[in-house]
Amino acid sequence: MTTRQKRPFVPITEIEHAAFCKPEDELPSKSLAEEIAINVRWQKIPTEYLHYSAEQLDAKIAEARRKLGARVTILGHHYQREEIIKYADFQGDSFLLSQEAASRPDAEFIVFCGVHFMAETASILSGQHQKVILPNITAGCSMADMAPMEDVEDAWDDLIEVLDGYGGVTPVTYMNSIAGIKALCGKNGGAVCTSSNATRVLEWAFEQNDRVLFLPDQHLGRNTALKLGISLDQMVVWNPFKSLGGNTEDQLRSAKMILWQGHCSVHTRFTVKQIESARERIPGVKVLVHPECPMETVDAADINGSTETIRALINDSPSGSAWAVGTEISLVNRLALNNPDKTVVCLDPVSCPCSTMYRIHPAYLLWVLEGLVEGEVINEISVTDEVRSDSMVALERMLALK
Ligand code: SF4
Repeated sequence: MTTRQKRPFVPITEIEHAAFCKPEDELPSKSLAEEIAINVRWQKIPTEYLHYSAEQLDAKIAEARRKLGARVTILGHHYQREEIIKYADFQGDSFLLSQEAASRPDAEFIVFCGVHFMAETASILSGQHQKVILPNITAGCSMADMAPMEDVEDAWDDLIEVLDGYGGVTPVTYMNSIAGIKALCGKNGGAVCTSSNATRVLEWAFEQNDRVLFLPDQHLGRNTALKLGISLDQMVVWNPFKSLGGNTEDQLRSAKMILWQGHCSVHTRFTVKQIESARERIPGVKVLVHPECPMETVDAADINGSTETIRALINDSPSGSAWAVGTEISLVNRLALNNPDKTVVCLDPVSCPCSTMYRIHPAYLLWVLEGLVEGEVINEISVTDEVRSDSMVALERMLALK
């Protein structure tokens, strides 16, 4: 076995998420200095940026953008706060944004207002002449942090050894993973998936092999496999802190789905109790959750779907309809704002934004834009040529599926 001895740890990003829940009236942005005082971890930034008011930031960002013109494109993930989304040339989920980056070859700089793995994917899909910038380098993702490269490589080596002579395994990774894992999938006959196409990608993966290693979100993996008729007793969870992921050789050999023990700290907060409470409080409410939520929550909901599905369903629903939504609060609040003729509420009564998404404050956006005006590229995100080409293989396999 190649699994190295590891001490179990909780990613710092996971702890920060838990510490970040706040009352609704504290959600609107403050100056960066005030936010640093109440939050957890920030990238150091020149002090003049700490105290700019919203109006000053607006004026300065507009001025920097005017100077940069078409040389820069700003992309905003749906989970970004409103005060960032208003500056985005395009908003979408992580994959749509990366495709958008690829479709703008004239933009020399792509400022990605999202988290680290998204900027990496944009860097893989965009042209070699383009530079992708993440305004705050500490904007990571707790789910991606739960599948570090060394652990995944160890697990892969163990699986190849144990399954030798017992059929193969196709690695599939969710978009929300570091580029190195996408590359591992590309090199080993696997693919990437998004929450929109996970079912189709898993169908394809089972055409290649009898079993799948699904990374890093156990919930998306489990919920999708159940849709395909795979039963819970055909699934095992791989705990990276235990030998063979906490499984016996026989369990691994008879499993169809090997689920990496990772999760989204935001979506695992949604519970069956919250669904019951929403149904009691709001007559006729439809409960709509993201498939990163735990199986019990997904089962109890009326509908589950990706971020883009959630948006489309609510935006296209009839006036007067009511929705309780299990996804990130910034998106839910935006859907409520844009659909004033409908009731749109978050399932969780406590407001818990994705704390790492929240690290993209307008002051950071201004900082990187003014850097570009001065000819300085701050926080460029890039990957090695090898990782880029292997990841592209996994991404192209996904794109080839209809
Ligand atoms: S919402 Fe979850 S998966 Fe998305 S960036 Fe935040 S922690 Fe990661």
